[in-house]
Amino acid sequence: MSFGDLKLHANLLAGIRELGFTRPTAIQADAIPPALEGRDLLACAQTGSGKTAAFMLPILHRLMDTPRGKTRALILAPTRELAAQILADMQDLAVHTPLNGAAIFGGVGMGPQEHAFRSGVDVIVATPGRLLDHFRAPYAKLDALEVLVLDEADRMLDMGFLPDIRRVLRHIPTKRQTLFFSATMPPPIATLAREMLRSPATINLERQSAAAVGITQAIYPVPQELKSALFLALLNRGDMREALVFTRTKHRANRLCEYLLKNGIEADRIHGNRSQTQRTAALEGFKNGRFRVLVATDIAARGIDVEELGHVVNFDVPLVPADYIHRIGRTGRADAVGDAFTFVAREEEGELGAIEKVLGKRLPRVTVPDFDYAARPEGRLEIPLGERLATMRAHKAGDRNRAQANQARRQGSAPASAPAGGARGSSRTAGSGRPVSGGGRPPGGGGGRPAGGGGGRPSGGGGGRSPSGGGGGRRFGGPRSPR
Ligand code: AMP
Repeated sequence: MSFGDLKLHANLLAGIRELGFTRPTAIQADAIPPALEGRDLLACAQTGSGKTAAFMLPILHRLMDTPRGKTRALILAPTRELAAQILADMQDLAVHTPLNGAAIFGGVGMGPQEHAFRSGVDVIVATPGRLLDHFRAPYAKLDALEVLVLDEADRMLDMGFLPDIRRVLRHIPTKRQTLFFSATMPPPIATLAREMLRSPATINLERQSAAAVGITQAIYPVPQELKSALFLALLNRGDMREALVFTRTKHRANRLCEYLLKNGIEADRIHGNRSQTQRTAALEGFKNGRFRVLVATDIAARGIDVEELGHVVNFDVPLVPADYIHRIGRTGRADAVGDAFTFVAREEEGELGAIEKVLGKRLPRVTVPDFDYAARPEGRLEIPLGERLATMRAHKAGDRNRAQANQARRQGSAPASAPAGGARGSSRTAGSGRPVSGGGRPPGGGGGRPAGGGGGRPSGGGGGRSPSGGGGGRRFGGPRSPR
């Protein structure tokens, strides 16, 4: 089946083409025809199945033929992030149409949202709490509403929004088309669906991709040097309470861990250079909540199984698509809702493309508000190998010098033992030509720690917990406030 077969408006087909969608996904092929007929829908569909376009395209098609100036479609979503994403998808699909939309969610000013109501944008995407806040004001009228979408209904249930949804229903016309989407159908959701829908077309989809059920995958484009800062920002914003983070190399794992500790995030790492005891301690500490972040390389990660893990962060794009599937498979187990965030620097776009090909879909791109993408990086995460070797050599030279100085001191004959005339004796510091006198500090920075000398964990690090860190027990993927 092609999008042309779905008899969508030509201007929508142009938008679809520009997005690079060649064929409808299964949910789109099943949902769009009955939705275009005006029927209610009850669809079991996960994030990543293409569900947004499945409900958005019939809505946009319908709105093209009716007078504008009043809001005619409302989409309810559980989180701000999802609402923003749905609006962005709507704008992409509607790019060749006059239709417009607005997102209504908390954490931002009411003013522009009030304006959206007053000007009668065609589509509103809202989280329930903030929408109810607006409904208290006389300007917030949705009496011309034709279509209501409930997206990720089961997640709304998990987050305690069912009463809010019922309240929203009191503010909108009962005569309308309702499109109901949920990844799972627990009894309260089935009851709500029965209340809201009239002889719906039901669409029950099998898993659409190899990715685990419940995973929300997102791409965070970011310059390579700002990845650490972006990760810290997401932790500090409370976007994730804890995370299993994958880096491409052991060195990057070490450096990221140091950076986090320095910034008050409790973290540890596991990779091939760590002893089994260290790895076990790191994993244990992560499981019991002592560490908020566990940084790992792929190989070390094979055996990790953390119950209810909420977030996996691909700090680097995996080189092989299979590793991506494997990594994100650690979250979203057994119906737990997890998130898989992947940081993508420009030079990693190729690998990302390969992953999206295997998944059979393009993953949503996310920009973090208030994060300074143009900031000067604090330092490089990856020190080039040549530089690292030079640092190690300097470090070793320092050790040697210290040993020689100690030996000279023990012999108590440092000045006398220095051969006259500055001969190259063992009691001279390398290359200095100066005799080492008792207790003298060797030149050349002996004893100093090499800059960027990965391995060691800063002592006493990780004292403070981030304010969003949550308390003792490991409870993953806590609810985000949608207000
Ligand atoms: P969703 O399940 O709506 O969150 O969609 C997941 C991803 O699939 C989004 O990045 C969409 O842009 C992408 N997508 C949606 N429909 C298609 C399609 N027909 N072909 C390829 N990618 C699609």
